[in-house]
Amino acid sequence: MAELTGSCLCGGVRFEVTEPFERVAACHCESCKKLSGAGGTVSGRVRTEAIHLIAGEDLVKSFQPTEGSTKTFCSTCGSNLFGAGWPESEHTSVRLSALEEPYEGRIGSHIFVRSLAPWEVLPDDGAERFEVRGA
Ligand SMILES: [Zn+2]
Ligand SMILES: [Zn+2]
Repeated sequence: MAELTGSCLCGGVRFEVTEPFERVAACHCESCKKLSGAGGTVSGRVRTEAIHLIAGEDLVKSFQPTEGSTKTFCSTCGSNLFGAGWPESEHTSVRLSALEEPYEGRIGSHIFVRSLAPWEVLPDDGAERFEVRGA
């Protein structure tokens, strides 16, 4: 049974996640800024095998940056969907921006805060902060 469902902006790619997120992190790194068009990404970590594409498998493309893990996006609309090396990795980061339902959980950590932009202000949300990768 789907715990969560997600899609890209054009709706071509749809997926479901069948397990709850183990944790949620906001990443402020340079890569996440470039790919998101914003201050970074907010992602839930889940076992890769709990993610099931239900439409648009042919639209899904991945990009391996020189640093960091593979990022996966819709080749039609550019929406970023997964990080952390999907589908080969044991765990995948699912972008909360792709979820259909409002996600009720809280952010557990802010990572790569060394890459905060001058125009970014971290919320006073009690979440742990890490200079680079989280624990
Ligand atoms: Zn799309
Ligand atoms: Zn990042």
